[in-house]
Amino acid sequence: MADQVKQIGKYRVEVIRDKCISAASCVAIAPKVFDLDEESLAIILSQDGNDDDTKLLAAQSCPTMAIIVTNIETGEQVWPVK
Ligand code: SF4
Repeated sequence: MADQVKQIGKYRVEVIRDKCISAASCVAIAPKVFDLDEESLAIILSQDGNDDDTKLLAAQSCPTMAIIVTNIETGEQVWPVK
């Protein structure tokens, strides 16, 4: 179909490194999006490595709420809920 578009996730994740305590639950849940660097702090490997639901679950698993999830279509912050 001519109007077929590639499905791209709408959630963008961001790590507040000052809040990261290296718990690595984000990496366990979404290993293609998150990794730990040499300081054992979370980094983003790829926004498209895992799907939106998995990215949100990973963010919700963070004990310090160091991961912010934004819906890039609406500009809304999805997590943490304000
Ligand atoms: S779950 Fe949170 S505290 Fe743990 S590594 Fe990921 S960002 Fe850091």
